Amino acid sequence: MQTQLGFPTASANQRLSELRLLLTRAAHAYYVLDAPEMEDPVYDRLYRELLELEAANPELVTPDSPTQRVGGSPSEGFNNVAHRIGLLSLDNAFSIEELESWYRRLLNALDRPPAGAEAVPPLALVAELKIDGNALALSYEHGVLVRAATRGDGERGEEITANVRTIGAVPLRLQLDNPPEWIEVRGEAFIPDATFAAINTERASKGEALFANPRNACAGTLRQLDPKVVASRRLDFFAYTLHLPSGPGGPSSQWEALQWLKAAGFKVNPNAQRGEGLAAIEAFFAHWDEGRRQLPYATDGVVVKLNDLRLQDAAGFTQKAPRWAIALKYAAEEAPSKLLRLSCQVGRTGVVTPVAEFEPIPLAGTMVGRATLHNADRLAELDLCGGDTIVVRKAGEIIPEVVRVLPELRPAGAERLYLPTRCPECGSELVREQGEAATRCVNSSCPAILRGTLRHWVGKGALDIDGLGSKLIEQLVDRGLVGSIADLYRLDGALLSSLERMGDTSAVKLMAALEASKQQSWYRQLYGLGIHHVGEVNAKALAKAFASAADLAGAATESPDRITAVFGIGPEIAQSLQQWFGTPANQALVKELESLGVALAATEAERAEGLSRGNGNGHLAGQTFVLTGTLPKLSRRDAQGLIEAAGGKVSGSVSKKTSFVVAGEEAGSKLAKAGALGVAVLNEAALLALLQGSPDTSPVDPAP
Ligand code: NAD
Repeated sequence: MQTQLGFPTASANQRLSELRLLLTRAAHAYYVLDAPEMEDPVYDRLYRELLELEAANPELVTPDSPTQRVGGSPSEGFNNVAHRIGLLSLDNAFSIEELESWYRRLLNALDRPPAGAEAVPPLALVAELKIDGNALALSYEHGVLVRAATRGDGERGEEITANVRTIGAVPLRLQLDNPPEWIEVRGEAFIPDATFAAINTERASKGEALFANPRNACAGTLRQLDPKVVASRRLDFFAYTLHLPSGPGGPSSQWEALQWLKAAGFKVNPNAQRGEGLAAIEAFFAHWDEGRRQLPYATDGVVVKLNDLRLQDAAGFTQKAPRWAIALKYAAEEAPSKLLRLSCQVGRTGVVTPVAEFEPIPLAGTMVGRATLHNADRLAELDLCGGDTIVVRKAGEIIPEVVRVLPELRPAGAERLYLPTRCPECGSELVREQGEAATRCVNSSCPAILRGTLRHWVGKGALDIDGLGSKLIEQLVDRGLVGSIADLYRLDGALLSSLERMGDTSAVKLMAALEASKQQSWYRQLYGLGIHHVGEVNAKALAKAFASAADLAGAATESPDRITAVFGIGPEIAQSLQQWFGTPANQALVKELESLGVALAATEAERAEGLSRGNGNGHLAGQTFVLTGTLPKLSRRDAQGLIEAAGGKVSGSVSKKTSFVVAGEEAGSKLAKAGALGVAVLNEAALLALLQGSPDTSPVDPAP
């Protein structure tokens, strides 16, 4: 069940002016102050939204809109210089589909037949890595660097020649015998990742503010008034654009221009690709999606350019960017979206998790429309209101989460959101224990808890029962056909095949899967019970030490020290097991499952594996030890670890089969039992000698 809230929404006009304001402020912080206020992909998405709103409402476009300007204004501290040739930005494509529509627009601008038309060769393109640095315009006269400028607002930039002279990768004199009268070179200044890390470490040690990322560190460095500081920051530079006086002899394509630049002494990024049409470009983009992570500098996409320079001229420019190039950006891990509703999930332990549902957005390669808000505290911390614009993050396989809210874009009249006070599933009052972050439904017959319990039991890591998905579980619970895990084993095929989306074949298959699951590994069955703190790893360790649920229940309720004697299992887990096995409803469940044929005990294979471990490699293979009392130096856990590492087994109780009892101070009944059964007793020193392979294993007096 979801909590549907009627959130207020802003009018197009209102949203547009809020976006304009927010993005103008962000651009100032980014371009002028070199201290970004938001993540680049968040800026990019909001910028795209502004563009779309302006396209739909052209009468609302104002000249000061961030969509009408390139970069930021040149700062005061430097001479402002006019660029010989305007230095524009690039349009972005956020998907292959957007790249394809750029290509179609380009064909159109060049009066070419549409893509795919017969007998028309595709356009020759060049793909280059998009270096995430700062654009520079370098002017050379008769082969000598005379001026270097930042991009500024695209028409005028800051003159930073003295600073750029310190960059080793920028040639001060071209390596050409007959350099042209003038050339203009564009390229990217950047700070390699390792240098960036060193700069921030040094700043941290001096208590100075850290740079947000290499690009902002680079921008800040280029605008240093003292070239010595710039030199110390070891900037790097890749050249990618060449302008020459018109005339014969110069390159006729972008590819040739790159070779020309290399020959003239510039550093040109070696990772570029020429291709006819989009196929090669798309392959290049896909290849570098992974590959770029190994590069020593930051990249955020691929710049695709028309190769033929004459065709570039023909395609021309829009107000902000060339039509003949596009920046195809790599999938973002963070993006903004609009909250649609707040829903709540009730898990198998009764924990209620608030979930944000929002307009779906592409993140890290998938479409995402839901993200966790964790708990009531996190909800309050975010200060989330209905209709808010939120920033969502998803990196790789990590569960998406809402990282923050953009209050600047909050619609008027929006109200603060809270967790409900009653369970959205069963209506019972929710409880939050003091000192706990979680809010819970404590009604053990809440259908959400039952569904979660069943989903966990059939899940991949547990019983791994094929054909029993969430939808079917929902039906079984909603119709009252299943009220516990045990009820799953009471289902019959005829009933199953009468359910929605179930035929005879699926019912037969499911019955077979349920039957097979009765003999599933013991540790999986134990994990499937969903005992607090008993995850897969702990279940494995416990299942190795206790051969059945009965064995484990006995230890849990009567001698918890046998539980804590298991390597990796601490008192918290022992207590949780004690609680679980001590609860009558759970005892009844175990009995029921056993009577229905669910083994809840080590399978043949597990027993055999256990034996082979006991008879395995180490020199103590086949020997069983029982630890009792406090050893002078070794903790229980360490002693057990050492014994197991040497191939021995540690057991919780003394029997005739026990090889040694290792006794420390205050050893109790186990020591007495060893005496009665004639089992050899070792003290810690003797155990250590034995572990080191000493042949003398004659019993010793345990007294220190
Ligand atoms: P851009 O960085 O998206 O693309 C254009 C730039 O790419 C060029 O100017 C050039 O410097 C660079 N580039 C790198 N490799 C290149 C290559 N091989 N060939 C050609 N160019 C290459 O656009 P932009 O106008 O410089 O800046 C806009 C970007 O700045 C936005 O996408 C946004 O991510 C960021 N921004 C962020 C904030 C913020 O608050 N975080 C604010 C404003 C702008």
